[in-house]
Amino acid sequence: MGGDDRQNETKSEGELLREKLFVNKKNSWEEAEPEELEGIHRFAEDYKDFLNRGKTERECTSRAEELLRARGFSDIDTLKGPLSPGAKLYRNNRGKSLVAAVIGRAPLSGGVNIVGAHIDSPRIDLKDNPLYEEGEFALLDTHYYGGIKNYQWTTIPLALHGVLIGPEGKVIEIRVGEEEGDPVFTVTDLLPHLAREQMQKKVSEFLTGEDLDILAGSRPFRDSKVKEKVKLNLLNLLYERYGIVEQDFAGGELEFVPAHKARDVGFDRSMIGAYGHDDRSCAWAALQAILEIALPGAIPPGSAGKAPSDGAAVPEKTVICFLSDKEEIGSAGNTGAQSRMLENCIAQICESAGEGASELALRRVLDRSAMLSADVNSAYDPNYDSVYDKKNASFFGKGLVLSKATGSGGKFGGSEANAEFYRKLRDILDRNRIPWQYGDLGKVDKGGGGTIAKYPANLGIEVLDCGIPVLSMHSPFEVISKIDLYSTWRAYLAFLREA
Ligand code: MN
Ligand code: MN
Repeated sequence: MGGDDRQNETKSEGELLREKLFVNKKNSWEEAEPEELEGIHRFAEDYKDFLNRGKTERECTSRAEELLRARGFSDIDTLKGPLSPGAKLYRNNRGKSLVAAVIGRAPLSGGVNIVGAHIDSPRIDLKDNPLYEEGEFALLDTHYYGGIKNYQWTTIPLALHGVLIGPEGKVIEIRVGEEEGDPVFTVTDLLPHLAREQMQKKVSEFLTGEDLDILAGSRPFRDSKVKEKVKLNLLNLLYERYGIVEQDFAGGELEFVPAHKARDVGFDRSMIGAYGHDDRSCAWAALQAILEIALPGAIPPGSAGKAPSDGAAVPEKTVICFLSDKEEIGSAGNTGAQSRMLENCIAQICESAGEGASELALRRVLDRSAMLSADVNSAYDPNYDSVYDKKNASFFGKGLVLSKATGSGGKFGGSEANAEFYRKLRDILDRNRIPWQYGDLGKVDKGGGGTIAKYPANLGIEVLDCGIPVLSMHSPFEVISKIDLYSTWRAYLAFLREA
């Protein structure tokens, strides 16, 4: 609403009708109150810090747990006695995914409100037996994780994050390439002078997944009697630093990720460029929403007045923030959204709240619950105009992107929200003056993709996909708008409180 200063009397009948009947999505920067702007930028600063600390699902889980504990949440297994309204709890699932909840005033049998996002991002994983020497270089063999365009991951500084498990379950944490002065790693590319043949190849062929090998060393061990001296020297360094031998790579989880930090983008600092917006931007908004419910007014400092329904410390319904792993490879495994971690946690809450431990009690809660599948969408990019239907594409600065359906080739393989539930969310957003927009991933049959939505939907939960528009998705440097991040946080908060 608003924006036009002219009096209604001076508008023609057609102008008035147009205002009433046409879709008119405004840019949120033009609509935001001046006192909101500082909060928007501060929210972005906190988010950048989260991204810099959390470049893997494990690091994001640890950081989320830290923030939850600081806001009074406890591990569900340590809670004693029946859960009462206002109780704050979480379950850390194997260090790689997490469920957090605030118990509401209403019985669980009426359903719970969930925002679910994923905290894994595309990257390059080490193979089980990765190290080899060739041309007097030590190289590491990899298998990429998630949908990447291979060429984007060459000639940029990469950092190594992850864990190896030593004898007796000892966790060896490795994080190299983030601190000033740390070495970094890289995948090399061919110089243009010798690339005449390479440049004729299709993009999908000139660098295969098997070619993504990491440059890891070039200094030989000084001993004329041994072979593979560079490899030996590198293993010796690793043994001295971490106590590991070559075989200890097996079964570990070591991930190469871009070494750069999150940065403001543009002269106007309206955007954030970083690795991992998919889907840590939505994960951050979801986490901040439940933290805000646990302690209203705390986030972001100074802009509490803009949070929907402030003052309501204990939510009406029980609210849940679900951060899952493995979305980028199909949500499989016991830390992914196809697992029963969400159900199990809700079952435990049900029992602890004195609402029964039966299968039926759990199924009833699930069948009456509502969830936002919080995941990023592809923002309209003027450099690649031809793949977007601009009527149904999402744009920077226009708020939370609602996607009724996902999938590809006739909505196949995705999820589709029920019309009634879509309308319910629209009404919550409009009531709270939170900007939202449409978001098909692209033109019909240009491609497509899925999210975690269909897995909770299978349990009977009402689910709608909605998230933040992003440019250069799945690249080492994705870009989002600061104001969309902020609008999305407000939207998730309003949904948790009011759905
Ligand atoms: Mn995603
Ligand atoms: Mn993705």
